This record gives sequence, C-alpha cells and structure tokens, in this order.
Amino acid sequence: MSNIIDGKAFAEGLRRRLATQIAGLKEKHGFIPGLAVVLVGEDPASKVYVRNKAQQTVEVGMASFEHKLPATTAQAELLALVKRLNEDKSVNGILVQLPLPKQIDPQAVLDAIDPAKDVDGFHVVNAGRLATGGQALVPCTPLGCLMLLKDRLGDLSGKRAVVLGRSNIVGKPMAQLLLGESCTVTIAHSKTRDLAGECRRAEILVAAVGRPEMVRGDWVAPGATVIDVGINRITGPDGKGKLVGDVAFAEAAKHAGAITPVPGGVGPMTIAVLLQNTVTAACRQHGIAI
Ligand code: NDP
Repeated sequence: MSNIIDGKAFAEGLRRRLATQIAGLKEKHGFIPGLAVVLVGEDPASKVYVRNKAQQTVEVGMASFEHKLPATTAQAELLALVKRLNEDKSVNGILVQLPLPKQIDPQAVLDAIDPAKDVDGFHVVNAGRLATGGQALVPCTPLGCLMLLKDRLGDLSGKRAVVLGRSNIVGKPMAQLLLGESCTVTIAHSKTRDLAGECRRAEILVAAVGRPEMVRGDWVAPGATVIDVGINRITGPDGKGKLVGDVAFAEAAKHAGAITPVPGGVGPMTIAVLLQNTVTAACRQHGIAI
C-alpha cells in the first residue's frame, strides 16, 4: 500500500455513498435534504467555496439554496435571514460563509443558527456536545481527518496523538474527536516548548497551524501517520504561486507510515463531510435513525 493518503478518492467514495443514501431517503421517506449557504460580500476565495459547495450539493441529489447578500448588509438583516432559514422546513442545514464583512459580528451570527441545522458545527451547543460526548454536529475538516485516520489505521484506541494548533474550527475539535477514539492526546500551539520533540512522540500527527512546511521530516517518528490540514499559498522557485501544507511533504513522507498530500489530502474531504453533516441533520430532524 502506498503511504500517500488519497483524500480526493476517499471524498469521491463518500459522495457516492451519500448519493445512494439520499436517493433512499427520497424513495422511502419522500424528502431530500436541503442545504442553505449564505455568502455576504465579494471575497473571491469565499465565492469559489460557495460555488463548489452548491455544485456538489446538487450533484449528490440534495436541494441547494444560495443566498448572496451585498457587502453592505447590516447584521440585523443577516440575522433576519438566518431566522427565516431556521424556520424553513425544506432547509436542513445552514452555512454562513466566513469571513463576514467587518460590520457583522461572526459569533452573533453563528450563535443565531439553530444548532440542529448548524452543519459547520461551530455553534457553542455543538462544541459543548462534542466536548461532553453528546449528539453533536461536528466541524467538517476535523471530522474528515478522523475518517481518513480510521480508514487507514482502523482502531485508534491507545495511540499517542499530537494535534498542532488549537483553533476552534480545527485543532480543538480534532483533539476532542481523537480523545473520543481513546487516543492519548497532546495539543501543541505557539507557546509549546520543544515542538519538534512533542511531534516526534506522535503515532498520529495532525498539523493545523497555517505555517508553510513548518513540520520538518525529522519531526516525524518512523511509521507515524501524518495528517496535514494546512493550506498555504507560497511563491515557488519558478516564481509561480503554489499550495503547500504545514508539513514539508517530501521530507516527512520518507519517515511517515502514511501521509496526506497538499493539495489532494484533507482539502477535498471538507465539502464531502459538509454534505454528510447535512444528511445527518436532515435524518435527525425527521426522526430517522442513521
Ligand atoms: P488558526 O490561525 O485559527 O490557528 C492556528 C493555530 O496554530 C493556533 O492555535 C496557533 O497557536 C498555532 N500556531 C501558529 N503558529 C505556530 C507556531 N509557529 N508553532 C506552533 N503553533 C503555532 O488556523 P486554523 O486552525 O483556522 O487553520 C490552520 C490551517 O488549516 C490553515 O493553513 C488553514 O488554511 C487550514 N485549513 C484547512 C481547511 C481545509 O479544508 N483543509 C479548513 C480549515 C483550515 P496559538 O493558539 O498559540 O496562537
């Protein structure tokens, strides 16, 4: 088996399974899940994400509701839209694309989303449920990382895991998920002493720091599984832009038992898991066991 973890292929397989599941929901229960995506403003990267999300939502057979609002939108207006989407029975998942223009407090908006429809898993109720072992909707990127890890390693119980980064959207939920799998988890961050030494102890190393190629080859224990969440745009030696992760891939791949590339590793998982979260949310709202 290659030591490269192919997230693109895994995400394709997940979308195929979801398409079958969605066709079954339509046939047996008479509904298709719906995902509403709200974009405020003209941020070019956000526009691409929203377009990809809408396209993949439709491709798996779900309903996609796109709401594009001008950059001048007032917070009250956005909150009113979120309220309408909370009440709309055809909408099972709501995603408000971040970042938001500066006149809008993102936390106020995230807190206004019905936790049952919070398919990004950013609502404090879902964060709390994840931390306390309740029925949460889990942030898409770390959940995608966990799927790749379980697919490659099977049972994770007892493994030493190091998560680099402690953000609310990646690092912290990743650590909670690994703890839930009975790993022994260390969370490292910018104040950690001897980062390289901590990483070398890891059987599972998840890097989510946003620092291009920070994790060097000799930080990786022989045979460790490395999940690189980082997406960093740098200028290559040829003067052209290119994407790299938080891990120096070529060096680390020599030591790792398995490793995700950038691009083509964690990145493609995020939208596929968003679709899965929408199906999960829809089934829970309809009282269907999954
Ligand atoms: P944040 O900037 O929110 O968090 C970065 C974390 O890394 C912080 O906890 C910070 O520590 C830590 N950190 C920063 N520099 C260092 C350092 N030199 N040494 C040790 N720790 C450090 O980033 P995100 O969690 O949102 O994202 C991380 C990366 O993942 C980014 O590259 C982002 O683009 C990518 N990403 C990819 C996604 C995907 O779909 N594949 C989705 C989301 C993010 P401290 O808390 O002490 O400041």
